[in-house]
Amino acid sequence: MRIAPPDSAVSEILPSIAAFLKAPRMLIGAETVAASSGATFAVFNPATGAELAQVPAGTADDVDRAVKAAQAAFEGPWSRLLPVQRQGLMLKLADLIEQNGEELAQLETLNQGKSILLSRLIEVQSSAEYIRYMAGWSTKIQGATLDVSIPIPPGMSYQAFTRKEPVGVVAAITPWNFPLNMAVWKIAPALAAGCTVVLKPAEETPLTAMRLAQLVLEAGIPEGVVNVITGMGHEAGAALVAHPGIAKITFTGSTETGKMIGIQAMKDMKRVTLELGGKAPMVMFDDMDLDLLGAAAGIGTFFNTGQTCCAGVRIYAQKGIYEKALEVIAGVTRNLAIGPGLDPANQINPVVSARHQAHVKACIARGLEDGAKPVINATAPATGFYVAPELFTDVRQDMALMQDEVFGPVVTMTPFSDPDEAVRLANDTRYGLGASLWTRDLNKVMRYVPKIQAGTVWVNSHNIPDQNMPFGGVKQSGIGREHGAGALDNYLETKSVCIAYR
Ligand code: NAD
Repeated sequence: MRIAPPDSAVSEILPSIAAFLKAPRMLIGAETVAASSGATFAVFNPATGAELAQVPAGTADDVDRAVKAAQAAFEGPWSRLLPVQRQGLMLKLADLIEQNGEELAQLETLNQGKSILLSRLIEVQSSAEYIRYMAGWSTKIQGATLDVSIPIPPGMSYQAFTRKEPVGVVAAITPWNFPLNMAVWKIAPALAAGCTVVLKPAEETPLTAMRLAQLVLEAGIPEGVVNVITGMGHEAGAALVAHPGIAKITFTGSTETGKMIGIQAMKDMKRVTLELGGKAPMVMFDDMDLDLLGAAAGIGTFFNTGQTCCAGVRIYAQKGIYEKALEVIAGVTRNLAIGPGLDPANQINPVVSARHQAHVKACIARGLEDGAKPVINATAPATGFYVAPELFTDVRQDMALMQDEVFGPVVTMTPFSDPDEAVRLANDTRYGLGASLWTRDLNKVMRYVPKIQAGTVWVNSHNIPDQNMPFGGVKQSGIGREHGAGALDNYLETKSVCIAYR
C-alpha cells in the first residue's frame, strides 16, 4: 500500500506489521539474521509503554561479519556497477519505500511515538525523495584537470587531474528522533558515492531500519552493500567504530557520544562526520509579522514533540512585542492536543522512551528549582511516555534549562532590548546547529545573519531542512555538512594523478 494522505486517520494497523514484529532481523550480506549470541532486547510502544518486539542484540562478532560483507561488496559487485546502474537501484529503493509507505509509517509511529502525519511526510516521503535526489548525483561525480608548474627534469611536461573515489566501508550510526529518515540521510549519499554501509540504528527505534534492509534486498542492491546491525551503542556501536575495516564514520546523535566517537575515529584516522545536539534560538524583533507567531511555536518548537536537534527552544522576543508574543505562544502551547501519534489530530505525542521521559521531566524539575516560572502547568496522560508541553519565563542564561539540551516539548521565552543584545544571548551556548531571525526588515536580516553562530539560519521560519541545503553544526553541534551536493564529498576521497610526458 502506498502512503495514505498525511492527515488521514489510521483505521487499522496493517497485518504485515504484526508478522514483521514477531521476529525482526538484522541484515548481514544477503542474510536476515538473529544475533550470533541469540540475545535480544525489547523495544517499546511509547504511546502505551507496552513491549512491541524483541530485537537482536548484535555483538562485536556480528559487526565483524557485517563489515566483512560490506568490504566484499565494496571490492566486488558494487565497484563493478556503472554509476547509472547504482542510480537505477537507488531509484528502485525509493519506489519500494513509497510502495510500502503506509507500513513503514505505521511501524515508525508504533516504535518512535511520533505523529503518523510526520511518519508519512518525513520518515517515508522525504526519505524516498532524498534517495532520488542523491541517486541523481551518482552520475555526476567529477574531478578536475589541473595545470601544474613542475620544472624538472628539463624537457618533461606534466598534466595533472583529480579523481573522486569512494572512501570505502561506511559506519552509519543514527539516533532515535527520525529513525528511518536519519538512516537514509547516511545511506543515500554513501551509495551514490559508491561506498558500502554498515548501519547501526538507535536501540530505541531500530524497526524501520530493519524493514528498510528487506527493501534493499528486494530492490536488487547487491548483497553486502547495506548491512544493518541492531544493538546497544556501547557494544555494537563501539565495535563498529573501532573496526579496522571501517574507512568512514557518519554519526548523528548526542554531543557526548559524538565526542567519544570522534576521538576513537582519530586513533585510526577514520574519516568522520558528526551531526550533534542543538539549543536553537528564535530571535523575534519588534517589526516581525505577528501572524507568524503560531507557526513559530508549532513548527519551530513543538514539531516532533520537541525531539528535533534544531528545535527553536530559546525564544528571545524584543520588548515591544514580548507580551503579545508570550500571549500567542502560550495560547498555542496550551491548546496543543496531546495523545498517541496514530491519531493525526494529536500534536504532542509521547517521547521516545521511559528513560527519555525521565530526562525531560528532570530538566523541568531542575528549571523549577532554579527559579524558572512555568506558564502552562498542563497535565499529560498517565499511561505511556508523555510529557505535557511547557513554556518557561524568567530563565537566566546560566540556568541548565537555558544551556542544556532537553529534547522535548519545553520552550523558554526571554525579552531583549536591542538587536546586539539578542545576538549575544542567541550565541551564548556551546551549540550552533540552527537559529532563526523574525523580522520584516531586510537590513536587519543582512546585518545579523552573519553574526549568528549556527550552521543554518532561517528567516521568518524555523526547523525546515531541505535536501539541497547543507545541514550541520558549528561549535559543539558537530563537524561537517549533510544534504546538498557537498554531502557526497563526505563519502569521497580526492586522488591527484600526475602524468609526465615528453
Ligand atoms: P545518542 O548519542 O545517545 O545515540 C546515538 C547513536 O549512537 C545510537 O545509535 C546509539 O546506540 C549510538 N551510540 C551510543 N554510544 C555509542 C558508542 N559508545 N559508540 C558508538 N555508538 C554509540 O543520541 P540519541 O539520544 O539517540 O539522540 C538524540 C541526540 O541526537 C540529541 O542530542 C540530538 O540533538 C541529536 N541529533 C542531532 C541531529 C543533527 O543533525 N545534528 C539530528 C538528530 C538528533
